[in-house]
Amino acid sequence: MGAATASEERRRAFVDDLFEKTDWPDGGDLDGFDFQELCVKHGLLATVEVTEACGDNCGCAEYTDFPTTCYRRTELSRRTASVEAPTPSITRSTE
Ligand SMILES: [Zn+2]
Repeated sequence: MGAATASEERRRAFVDDLFEKTDWPDGGDLDGFDFQELCVKHGLLATVEVTEACGDNCGCAEYTDFPTTCYRRTELSRRTASVEAPTPSITRSTE
């Protein structure tokens, strides 16, 4: 064990790119469009061509010009129940 999973490696590559693009710690900047492109590059966003909005909660619902490209978060950029922080439990000594 100890080897990062493939998806973990992909996220790390994304983080590497973020550090580079933001020129940390010298304080570059990264606009939302560049961030989106990075997400697509590293598989954190999937692009889907749509002819109408996927749903009210989708980012493409605000678009007015179809067909367009819908950007959807992938499993790499989603939290799942298994990775959420566990609820801390208070343990008391009963001695
Ligand atoms: Zn959409």
